[in-house]
Amino acid sequence: MSEIETTGELAALLYRETQASEHAFVYLDNAATAPVEDVVIDQINQRIVKCNANVHRGIYRLSEESTATYEKDRADVAVYLNATPNEIVFTSGATESLNQAARILSDFVSEGDEILTTVYEHHSNFLPWQQLALRKGATLIVATSAEDLESKLSDKTRIVAITHCSNVLGTYFDVKHICKKARETGAISVVDGAQAIAHSHPDLKEIDCDFYAFSGHKIGATTGIGVLYIKDCLIKKLNPSSFGGGMVKRCSIDDCTFEDAPYCFEAGTPNFVGATGLATALRHRSMREEDLFLKEQGLMKHLVKGLSEIKGLHLLSDAALHNQKQVCASFTVEGAHPYDIAMLLDKKGFAVRSGMHCAMPLMTHLGIEHAVRVSPSYRNTTEEIDRFLQALQEVLLICCRSDGTP
Ligand code: PMP
Repeated sequence: MSEIETTGELAALLYRETQASEHAFVYLDNAATAPVEDVVIDQINQRIVKCNANVHRGIYRLSEESTATYEKDRADVAVYLNATPNEIVFTSGATESLNQAARILSDFVSEGDEILTTVYEHHSNFLPWQQLALRKGATLIVATSAEDLESKLSDKTRIVAITHCSNVLGTYFDVKHICKKARETGAISVVDGAQAIAHSHPDLKEIDCDFYAFSGHKIGATTGIGVLYIKDCLIKKLNPSSFGGGMVKRCSIDDCTFEDAPYCFEAGTPNFVGATGLATALRHRSMREEDLFLKEQGLMKHLVKGLSEIKGLHLLSDAALHNQKQVCASFTVEGAHPYDIAMLLDKKGFAVRSGMHCAMPLMTHLGIEHAVRVSPSYRNTTEEIDRFLQALQEVLLICCRSDGTP
């Protein structure tokens, strides 16, 4: 069934015909978004009920308390990342963080310059740079490996934009080394930490990047909140790219003076409720994260081993089998469309992602259009992974049989 053209029609049919699973729902799509932690829900609830006043604006007690909470949350995020509070800009998520980085850095890019990225990027860390290059008459250079990226660094490179961890392969890049190489050639480094921070603790002083971006909703906080870290020595030289309330010291008809960082990068009422959730998620996790990360690696190894034993299944990466960190497993199966697989797995109670994972350049590079992605978290168990592997084999039998293949 290599010539499947279905956009889910086969699966829709089979979906209706397949009996509902007697098992409880198993969530294996944590790379898309993770369940909100109970402690985050509690803290957010308290923030809304007890302290819902605008920040940096009122002089009444409730507003001052809200401002103090917001700044404490920022300080705690900074401590977690080994950064300083003035380096932490709250945004609506990784996508906005990366777009803001690209807007801010547009002053640094001119015609003939180069922006260097990789084929492994999520669209959120690809399109902002592609569009910036197009607008400025610069060249977007797309590397196919870390070594290739290093070889493509030149005195024309202004920006190196790289993911810390691929949302398709689930594998990490040595961003510390890449940022060092970028710095040596005078380029600014931007790291997309959206996947990495869900399964590891980034030390930004150690990585020594100029920018680092991530979202709260992948680490047990809510949607609508994220972080853009900007290195202290750089943040003072940059101009804001969004304008509005809370980011100017004074404003006249002809001119204005911006607030110091990070406030000049947070135009408008910030998502202070979301910031409480994000800071709570990190505070809560930091107490037990070594154990959680270890458990996740154990589950991944078990999952990848099981997948590697299924005939006709092609893993896009099996790094976990070689004792490398891998946070999700993506695969294709000869004779079965990824959409069909995901729909039928849902019927059996398993939530997995199928599609191109907002990573079309990578899909093209790999010569595929779609893949199934399984992304467990510490909340899952080995027994659930075993049941998933069993369900997947049953689903594959249905998919292949319906096309006449054995
Ligand atoms: N980068 C990567 C590697 C991601 O996995 C994602 C989310 N899938 C993003 C960026 C964008 O994150 P968000 O949609 O939360 O802005």
